[in-house]
Amino acid sequence: MNQVQATKWDIVVGLEVHCELDTNTKLFCGCPNSFGDDPNTNVCPVCLGLPGSLPVLNARAVDLAMRIGAALHCDIRPSRFHRKNYFYPDMPKDYQISQYDAPINCDGWLELSSGKRVGIERAHIEEDTGKTTHIGESGRIQGATSSLVDYNRAGVPLVEIVSAPDMNCAEEAKDYVSELRSILIACGASDGKMEEGSLRVDANVSVKPAGSREFGTRCEIKNVNSLKSLVRAIEYEALRQIALIESGEVVRQETRHFNENDGKTTTMRSKEDSHDYRYFPEPDLVVLSPDEAWIEGIRSGLPPMPAERRALIGAKCGAKEPGSPSANQVATVVSLGLDNLVLRSIESGGDPKLALSRAANEAAAREDLALRLSPASFAKLISMEGSGKISATQSKTILGAMLEEVAEQIGTGSGTESTSFSGFVECDPEKIAQERGFEQMDASALLGSIDEIIASNPDEWQRFVSGDEKVTQFFVGQVMRATRGQADGKSVIALLRAKKDDLQNI
Ligand code: ADP
Ligand code: MG
Ligand code: ZN
Repeated sequence: MNQVQATKWDIVVGLEVHCELDTNTKLFCGCPNSFGDDPNTNVCPVCLGLPGSLPVLNARAVDLAMRIGAALHCDIRPSRFHRKNYFYPDMPKDYQISQYDAPINCDGWLELSSGKRVGIERAHIEEDTGKTTHIGESGRIQGATSSLVDYNRAGVPLVEIVSAPDMNCAEEAKDYVSELRSILIACGASDGKMEEGSLRVDANVSVKPAGSREFGTRCEIKNVNSLKSLVRAIEYEALRQIALIESGEVVRQETRHFNENDGKTTTMRSKEDSHDYRYFPEPDLVVLSPDEAWIEGIRSGLPPMPAERRALIGAKCGAKEPGSPSANQVATVVSLGLDNLVLRSIESGGDPKLALSRAANEAAAREDLALRLSPASFAKLISMEGSGKISATQSKTILGAMLEEVAEQIGTGSGTESTSFSGFVECDPEKIAQERGFEQMDASALLGSIDEIIASNPDEWQRFVSGDEKVTQFFVGQVMRATRGQADGKSVIALLRAKKDDLQNI
């Protein structure tokens, strides 16, 4: 977005996120809720909408929906189901059972990692549709030679989370989705996999003159399937609307499609109004009225949410205000669920900043494996590094080897071949250090090596003494080479500075 446009216009974004609930069975029947099975194998008269079949509400889905509501600080209320009528081949009943005027959760909020709060208008329960695959080059209906329908997804439980129009740029929308994703995972409602469609995002975008109170007309961009696409789609759409208005035209309210290949949004259809759907109360289901005890149980049973976990780790690691490097590390660790590695290390006396850094960088780079590494093993490594037993380089190498061990144990082989090992993998960093010959580098050996290098590089040493910090890395590199990576970079720098101070104090 260029400067002129950014200062003359405000962008307004509200998001609708569909979250598939992590249940064993569908919302109104006993068919399995599972991704990736052969098409049309998980179906029955209920989810195919055959005459005479009756829906039975899945209690676990209600439980998870209320957990989402509680985690988003919503009112949890008696609710009822409606039929939303429309025709589409992926919807065998020709109506979708959804919640309309009485959603189970409303009026909540979500706190972004920046501290800003985004309002949640409602989070209601509904059933998913089937999936249509258009056969042809574009993958879209235009130009397709035929289309295939898979009803396995029809009737899978969803919660649709509707935000208030509180976001003001694409990056903020991205932060909202990643925060929401962490919350959904933390409360056990979803696996959060955007690539498998467990989380699907529709973005409502409008623009208005900077500072104006009145909102502009919005367009809804459907089914954006990654965070990267979300940012691109919102930025493109905002610029498109600005260009339209600046050329004297008006924005029409419509539903648009984002094309991954050219980064543009195009019209799908003009916006439906709710009366187009002929909503009416679902006659085959009663009002859903969870009792107070159930709701209380949900609220008190929720594990700590990401904002609380960030505050905890941030306090322990001395992370500064949002946006600072350490706060970003804290956000990374929490969003990946690696908090336990850090907390456990601190509990066993490890250096908090060191634990945070190893978790947010080296462990986070292989999060799938790091999540399965026992926190005790990680903590042991952090203690070894913190006490100077091993250097930073060696510590990273050992962590890499530990994660390899995890990969072997849990069997990351493809598909059904993989073993179903669950729980944490214990690794022994001390044993790995011994096997690799990472011996303890004692202080006198390190000093000796530094003295030799100073002696054979007098010019560089002179520059260092006269305050040229740029040669520091030269010395660290030389010492590393001489000690074959056994020395710790930070100790080398500290020793070099101490030597310089000694000289100057004479
Ligand atoms: P619909 O069913 O028409 O999509 P919803 O109530 O489900 O309506 O969702 C409306 C979404 O659009 C909400 O997320 C809301 O925040 C957002 N929204 C409403 N007005 C605007 C606007 N002017 N600009 C951007 N987003 C908006
Ligand atoms: Mg909507
Ligand atoms: Zn079924």
